[in-house]
Amino acid sequence: MENRQTLSQYKLANFLACQRRFQLRSLRRLPWPASPLPERTEQVLQQGQAFHQLLERHFLGLKISPAAIEDGRIQQWWRAFQTHNPVQTLPPNARFLPETGLTVPLGNHLLYGRFDLLAIGEDEQNQPFAHVFDWKTGRPIAASELKTRWQTRLYLALLAEGGSAFWSQAVPLAPEQIRLTYWFVQEPDAPVTIGYSAAEHAANWAELQQIAAQLDAALALNTWPLTDDWSHCRECAYQIYCGRQGAGTAVPELDEAEEPDIPNEQLLTPELP
Ligand code: SF4
Repeated sequence: MENRQTLSQYKLANFLACQRRFQLRSLRRLPWPASPLPERTEQVLQQGQAFHQLLERHFLGLKISPAAIEDGRIQQWWRAFQTHNPVQTLPPNARFLPETGLTVPLGNHLLYGRFDLLAIGEDEQNQPFAHVFDWKTGRPIAASELKTRWQTRLYLALLAEGGSAFWSQAVPLAPEQIRLTYWFVQEPDAPVTIGYSAAEHAANWAELQQIAAQLDAALALNTWPLTDDWSHCRECAYQIYCGRQGAGTAVPELDEAEEPDIPNEQLLTPELP
């Protein structure tokens, strides 16, 4: 069994929700038979993915013609983005890296994340900064909830540990110079920006190391207990393996940028534009 795992936010969340689910999905790689989504949900998900691709093209420097966007809803989101573009407050020297992955070591494992957009540069004091932007086409989420989400904690930790590699001459990137902004199409004038600090990173990283140690222990013993919290089973495709069909079913929360499986588990190294 390959013991070194590449941990994305989804793998982390799976491990913490249910170790058996982590084993079935990430180690035994059992197919995850997604239940058919309601037509409306499927459409919203596709529109979200199309919008992400549109912004990726924009930040790659390609010209976007609103008239060429066939879907009226995506056209509306694009216009909202143009009016309330959250990156316009960045220093003019900012460089944009859309859809950029970063992997850093975490104990015996690797921690992985892919940012919708990473902006890097130097501020007025000539200090390097890194600012992640995440596009959300679903319902707006309160700042207090966003702050505690694994996506937030993972992205900030990744940049604090490995972000300096985005500069050709490695420079120290202080946690205080790292930010993450969530931008919601439904509230385009109210982005949520979350900062970071050395103290927060110390606590965040210590918890991540603790989770990696728990994973090591589970791998060593090859013991994968079923969760005690049956609410996790409601959105799990493996109920039949666990005799948990009585939990009922629920459509899992969907994220248009979800990367359910990492295509290859190579170390992704940052690339400059
Ligand atoms: S059905 Fe429940 S116990 Fe079984 S893998 Fe899924 S979440 Fe875990």
